[in-house]
Amino acid sequence: MPRPISATIHTAALASNLAVARRHAPKSKIWAVVKANAYGHGVARAFPGLRATDGFGLLDLEEAVKLRELGWAGPILLLEGFFRPTDIDVIDRYSLTTGVHCDEQLRMLEMARLSKPVNIQLKMNSGMNRLGYTPERFRAAWERARAVQGIGQITLMTHFSDADGPRGISHQLEAFERGAEGIAGARSLANSAATLWHAAAHFDWVRPGIILYGGSPSGKTADIATTGLKPAMTLASELIAVQAVPAGHSVGYGSVFSATGPMRIGIVACGYADGYPRVAPEGTPVIVDGVVTRIVGRVSMDMLTVDLTPVPNAGIGAPVELWGTKLPIDDVAAACGTIGYELMCAVAPRVPMRAE
Ligand SMILES: *Cc1c(COP(=O)(O)O)cnc(C)c1O
Repeated sequence: MPRPISATIHTAALASNLAVARRHAPKSKIWAVVKANAYGHGVARAFPGLRATDGFGLLDLEEAVKLRELGWAGPILLLEGFFRPTDIDVIDRYSLTTGVHCDEQLRMLEMARLSKPVNIQLKMNSGMNRLGYTPERFRAAWERARAVQGIGQITLMTHFSDADGPRGISHQLEAFERGAEGIAGARSLANSAATLWHAAAHFDWVRPGIILYGGSPSGKTADIATTGLKPAMTLASELIAVQAVPAGHSVGYGSVFSATGPMRIGIVACGYADGYPRVAPEGTPVIVDGVVTRIVGRVSMDMLTVDLTPVPNAGIGAPVELWGTKLPIDDVAAACGTIGYELMCAVAPRVPMRAE
């Protein structure tokens, strides 16, 4: 028997979440973002649920090639573009669309030998200050790209820093409009947060990622409560032991938790080597036998320990949900001081994962 931990990918939830994205931006085409191995879900496992998209956005050439091997003939966008001249051969062979955010990339495209024109998304730095041309330099970059023989369609793209927060997008939208003024071409601006909450940014293409997996762009479950988004991943395990701990005795490494009275502690086959965050503090929610309880003691490499007080009958083999359809991943993430994105991306390769 393998250890009783596994992750299940819910294909119907992916399809339903894609439909939610479409309902929010009905006039836009969708780049379904599947970078980081589909946010940890697995590109091949996520593909069947997302195939009603208009295109896929990702970073790694290997993932792009995998999508072609799965039979996807539609658009694939390299969100960060490419890094070496040899990457352009793969872009050409597999008919990928590529982001272009700097002169080095334009120079490589000018030098490249292509069998057909490559479509690009020219990236503007509208205020995030990671990638892209400033609004002031954008037109010159566009003129230069337009003059490159091997470049086909040019889409104008930018990325938001605060679409999920109080600052919002207006300062970046204003910068984008200024830099892109008078330049023809499709526009691609919105991430998940802007897809849900900023219709002014929808334009021709939206680029949702986290909402396809049922996570909240803000990291707060309450913010997506009325959207109908469904968790696409359940991380589950079982109790592999139960301890009756007397009052005053401690649990786990560092003895960071001590029982104030006699209590039953469940030992769960899930630890930080499975991708569960070691920083999860006492009180982090976990579901045992359908009942919400809490982590006590320090998360170790292969195990974590839970308070069985609310589930007195739970014994060895009792089902445990770490996050998923009953326990929102963002609730676990919030307890750990992070966001659902990080937890889903971090599920370790040793965890068996299958789609249903
Ligand atoms: C990751 C990414 C997205 C998707 O972001 P979400 O917040 O997951 O929707 C969109 N565009 C770009 C350029 C990205 O890198």
